[in-house]
Amino acid sequence: MSCPDCGGDRVTLRVPADLRDHAGSETVAVCRDCLRVQPIDAGAAEPATPSAVDESIPDGDGGVAFLLACGNLGSLALHRPAIVELFEYAEVAGVDVYLTLDRLADTVPNPHFDVSRRMEQVDEFL
Ligand SMILES: [Zn+2]
Repeated sequence: MSCPDCGGDRVTLRVPADLRDHAGSETVAVCRDCLRVQPIDAGAAEPATPSAVDESIPDGDGGVAFLLACGNLGSLALHRPAIVELFEYAEVAGVDVYLTLDRLADTVPNPHFDVSRRMEQVDEFL
């Protein structure tokens, strides 16, 4: 299962019930190369955990929230309320959002957003 945007490998994640409004689906596919997130049919593939996308992402609901936020980071103007809510959810769940973004900047080959620029902006509103 490869990414329709960049052709990278994708990881299937189950979305916690209270985050499904943001995901648009019970199950999403996250690209390991560009971090785009797309809703997919449940049962399309065996769900994995957030650390399967990148080892710097913590497993658990917080990691899923973090990745859903990353999927929205292509347009901060359009998705800001969702991004803030998702990153806050991740922080409450124990994810260090800023540190995790910093690690992704080194390990994800081709993020669909400018990681260092987004880190500055995220730092302002978290
Ligand atoms: Zn991709």
